[in-house]
Amino acid sequence: MSATQKSLAQVAPDQSACMGRTMDGNRKNNVRRSVRRPMRASTLVGWLMGASALLASLPAAAQTSPSTSVLPNGAVNSRSNQWEYDFYRQSWGYNFYFGSADQGKYDDGELHAWNVQGNVWMIVGLPERANVVVQIGNDGVLVVDTGTAEMAPKLLALIKKLAARYAGDHDDIRWVVNTSGEPDHIGGNKVIREGGKQIIGISLGASDLPGATVMSSQNTLNHLVDSGTPDDLLPSEAHEESVYSWYFNDEAVTLHQPRIANSDGNLLVQFRRSDVIAVGDLVNASSYPRIDVKNGGTIDGLLTALHDLRDLMAAGYHNGPIEGGTIIVPGHGRLMDRAELLHYTYMVQILRNRIMYYKNRGKSLQQVMAMNVTGDFDGRWGKSTGGWTPKDFVKVVYETLPAGSSKGPDRFFIPSGE
Ligand SMILES: [Zn+2]
Repeated sequence: MSATQKSLAQVAPDQSACMGRTMDGNRKNNVRRSVRRPMRASTLVGWLMGASALLASLPAAAQTSPSTSVLPNGAVNSRSNQWEYDFYRQSWGYNFYFGSADQGKYDDGELHAWNVQGNVWMIVGLPERANVVVQIGNDGVLVVDTGTAEMAPKLLALIKKLAARYAGDHDDIRWVVNTSGEPDHIGGNKVIREGGKQIIGISLGASDLPGATVMSSQNTLNHLVDSGTPDDLLPSEAHEESVYSWYFNDEAVTLHQPRIANSDGNLLVQFRRSDVIAVGDLVNASSYPRIDVKNGGTIDGLLTALHDLRDLMAAGYHNGPIEGGTIIVPGHGRLMDRAELLHYTYMVQILRNRIMYYKNRGKSLQQVMAMNVTGDFDGRWGKSTGGWTPKDFVKVVYETLPAGSSKGPDRFFIPSGE
């Protein structure tokens, strides 16, 4: 099977289903595939049922929030977002959480690779479920994020193995992109860079220099330098453009830099023929999003970036919406398609609106914390390990929302001019 062959199983946003093709080309996880097939066959029915359920529920939705029982008193301002959240959950006919928490089965100390779609592969098994993305083709290898320093030798070995099998005549690592400056996204920079070669001029081969080119945003590089990061982990090329494109492995690769998201230095890497976007920590499929306040992150910046990301994505359609279309690889956790990105965005937006509502009415951070505003989402998103708890999230949201006389809007909207 060639690296470009793909099937629905491979584009499904559930990572377990994406195990459809492994490095060996074997079909694994047949049980999961057979479970999923009838769901796919009933897509249209599921869609119609969802739509009719939606119509039936309209009057009720207009009167009461579906989760009134768990909403703190008065926080009904996010009703329409809550409604949309529930809509996306039910109307697609899928369980969006399906397989979401089961990456644990890959917590065996080893790294695992599989094809997302097209030229793009995903490597999991890193601590905290940090994801590495690898694009492989005739020109060699592009790596997005490098995991932790401890796992770097294993990562390099796996990338070389993939390249030997799926790259063309040129199988060197040429480019590395850091989506942020977090330790589990840049920890392997030295090992991966030294395992690659830099392209000099316009042709591959003759004049290569040792060491791949490592890119980040200018702001991320600045933060890394300011925080005393060792030189050999620093990016070698920094970008300030909001959009930057080049051609590699038979497709355009585009870096998108949101003005503000988790920090002021996020990069998203779009593989335009493969239709995959590596989004780094802008999306965290394992927990509430991390916001790095010290380095310029804000909740409203993050939400603006999430809405912009939505506009880069196309939903898969075949007699109705199906899983697939543009696939994103989050910084942590499983893959998502556009419907799931919307679902995630509404979750973040609902919580932002609840916290803004109370902050606008003079509640202190401690008072908002005591209200447990994330309670109804914690079952899915309220990860308590890895140093990022629901309270950490509430705190950064509260602190980065407008305060005092310059109250923010109760409901999030994308600021004009963004
Ligand atoms: Zn991360």
